[in-house]
Amino acid sequence: MNNANILDGVFSRFLNGKVVFRDREVLRHDYIPESLPHREEQIQHLGEIVAPILKAARCSNVFIYGKTGTGKTAVVKYVPNKLSQKAAEFGSPMKACYVNCRLAGTEYRVFSSLCDVLGIDIPFTGLALGEVFDRFKKGLETRKLILVTVLDEIDALVKDKGDTLLYELTRINETLHSSKTTVIGISNDLRFKEFLDPRVLSSLSEEETVFRPYDAGELQDILFERAKSAFHDGVVLDGAVSLCAALAAAEHGDARRALDLLRVAGELTEREGAKNVTEDHIRRAEKRIEHDRVVEAMKNLPAHSKFVLYSVYLLSKRGGRQIVTGEIYEVYCELCEQLSVTPLTQRRVSGLINELDAIGLLNTQLVNMGRYGRTKKIRLSINQSQFRTVFTDDARLESLSNYSPKHLT
Ligand code: ADP
Ligand code: MG
Repeated sequence: MNNANILDGVFSRFLNGKVVFRDREVLRHDYIPESLPHREEQIQHLGEIVAPILKAARCSNVFIYGKTGTGKTAVVKYVPNKLSQKAAEFGSPMKACYVNCRLAGTEYRVFSSLCDVLGIDIPFTGLALGEVFDRFKKGLETRKLILVTVLDEIDALVKDKGDTLLYELTRINETLHSSKTTVIGISNDLRFKEFLDPRVLSSLSEEETVFRPYDAGELQDILFERAKSAFHDGVVLDGAVSLCAALAAAEHGDARRALDLLRVAGELTEREGAKNVTEDHIRRAEKRIEHDRVVEAMKNLPAHSKFVLYSVYLLSKRGGRQIVTGEIYEVYCELCEQLSVTPLTQRRVSGLINELDAIGLLNTQLVNMGRYGRTKKIRLSINQSQFRTVFTDDARLESLSNYSPKHLT
C-alpha cells in the first residue's frame, strides 16, 4: 500500500467511524465539572470556612491534604469560584488567587502571581524576595480587600525552598489594617506537616480537611458523570466504566488515572472506527499508559542507573537462571570500562538496584539459600522490547547494543 492509500484509510476510518467523543475536553485534567460527586462533605466544610468573607470578615486558614487524584484541586477551584460570584452579588470586596506552587517553581514567582491578581507590577526577575513581598503587602493594604490565596501543591515548593513564603503569608494579617488575607494550602504528601516550622503549621492549619482516596464505587459514579458529557450516548459500555473504576481503585483511588484510562480507551476506539468503548479498549489503554510511564521513567534515569539496568538487560537476554547482585556488578564494571567511565562501588550499585525496584523497573526478591544465607534475585520488570525502544535512543548505550560481556562467555 502506498503512503497516500494508508492515509486515505486512516482518514476514512475516522470520518466514517461512529463519532465517539461528544467533547473530549471534558476528560482533561484541568477541566472542572459542574458537579463533584462524593466531595459534598469537603465542599460544604470549605464553604462554611470561607463564608464569613461574604460579610467582609476574615476566615480561617485551611490546610488540605490527600493523595493525587482525590479531587483537591477541583474542589479548591470550585469553591472560591462560587464564592467570588456570591461576593460580587453582595458587594463584598474579595479576590481569589490560585497558584500551583510546583509549576510556579520559586517563591518569587508565587508572590509575583499574587501581585498579578492585585494589579501590582513586578518585573519578571531581579528584585530581592523581600522587596517583592513588601510591594505585595503595601499593594494589598491600599486595595482594601480580602484576598483568598490558594497555594496548590505547596509541598513541592516547601521541600525545595523552605517555608519562608508560608511564614510571611500566614503572619501578614498582623500588619494589615484595611485588608485581610486567608491562605488555603494544599499538599499531595500526607507527611508534609513534618517539613513545616511548628508556628507556620499552627497558623496554616487553623482548619484541616483530608481528602480520602475514592473507592471503586465512587470512581464509577464520577466516571459515569464525566462519560455522559465526554462521549455520545451509548458509546461507553457500562462494563468498560466499571473496569476503569476497578483498575484505578486498585492503584490508590486516583480519579485522574481513571479519567486517563477512559480518554485513551476512547481514542483507541475512535482510531479503529469502532462503535463502542469496551472492556478490551480499557485493558489496552492501561497497557499503553503503563508503557508510556515506563518509557518516561527510563528516559529520566541518571547515567549509572541506566548502566545498571542495561547490565540486567544483557544478563536477562542470556535467559535461564535468575540474576544475582554480584553478576550485575561484574557486567556493570565491564560496561563502564567500555564507556571509559569510573564505576561506582558495589554498595552504591546495590542502592541503585533498590531504587530501580522502587520505581518498578526491576523486581528484586530475597531468596533463602539455606546455610549459604540469603541472596537477592533480580529480574527486569519490563519486557525486553520495551527496554530496547528506549535505550536505542541513548547514543552511548546504543553503541553497546551488540556488546557481549566477557562475564557471559
Ligand atoms: P488532586 O488535586 O487531588 O490531585 P484533582 O482535583 O486534580 O485531584 O482531580 C483529578 C481529576 O479527577 C480531575 O480531572 C478532576 O476533575 C477529577 N475529579 C476528582 N474528583 C472528582 C469528583 N468528585 N467528581 C468529578 N471529577 C472529579
Ligand atoms: Mg492537584
